Amino acid sequence: MATVRRDALVFSSPVLAPWRWPVFEVAAPTAGPRLCIMAGMHVNEVSSIEAAVQLQARVASALARGSVSILPILNLPALPYRSQYVCPVDGRNINFSFPGRPDGTFSEVLADAILREWSADAEVLIDLHGGDLCENVTKFSLFQQTRDAVLDRKNLSLARCFDSEIIVALDSSNLGRPGRACTACAERGRLAVMAEGGANGLIDAQSTRFHLNGVLNVMRTLKMIEEPPEPATRAQTIVGEYLWIDSPRAGLLYARAEPGARVTKGQQLAIVKDTYGQVEAEIVAPASGLILWRINHGLTTEGEQIFGLGIPLTKTPNVA
Ligand SMILES: [Zn+2]
Repeated sequence: MATVRRDALVFSSPVLAPWRWPVFEVAAPTAGPRLCIMAGMHVNEVSSIEAAVQLQARVASALARGSVSILPILNLPALPYRSQYVCPVDGRNINFSFPGRPDGTFSEVLADAILREWSADAEVLIDLHGGDLCENVTKFSLFQQTRDAVLDRKNLSLARCFDSEIIVALDSSNLGRPGRACTACAERGRLAVMAEGGANGLIDAQSTRFHLNGVLNVMRTLKMIEEPPEPATRAQTIVGEYLWIDSPRAGLLYARAEPGARVTKGQQLAIVKDTYGQVEAEIVAPASGLILWRINHGLTTEGEQIFGLGIPLTKTPNVA
């Protein structure tokens, strides 16, 4: 029988010292891999937070080998404000603060502590996301491509554990600069995958199941649970380049393409109208690809990123 500990995670940095992160630890009597799972880097992405909560009972009853640590809400300072995207202590997006630094701002120190303290001995780090207050995302999983083909293939197999419509194999332009946890891990030769599914600060059962089953499939693949992995039911198209499409104007936003849709270069994605109902701008696809997410608030501001577009890989030296 696995042992269970409901604990508070504290970090050594004085910047983080006032905070206590609820963490759920499960250890099987038989040795095996250690898996670290975090959610709530963006606190409105509650379908993934709910999955981290539900996962605790599932893991406690099913873990056969190794140990699991579950951190359901990383961005604790954001909770009272329901902050979108950022950590209110320093106004930074933790998702683009990895690997962080021990002498940086709050988000950078936290990112550093996540990698070098909490998950330092993890065989795999899983980061669950999905749809901030004004966002709808398709179901996708994501990992960082490197120059190490063996590592890339292992990370791809973890990304495939999630029943994704799309797998983002982040291209090498993301290496060597602050970014996602999975990028910082891959640069250090560590296995890490991120999953996206959910919308609008709502718990929806389908998105929660996507996250929950994805993590359980990782555990099945690592033989931490004695069950065969469940096969994917979605297409799992692999994309490399990840384009962000901005709104050229402020105004009322009318989307013409939904997350998961395949679009062609030049296709209309949205129009923006002014408050007189006049069309101010047309937003078209800069390339052919798949819509990863969109802003689904009816208002937009000039320069706001309103669509994420993934460009399918044509050449896949490491992950073919
Ligand atoms: Zn997120």
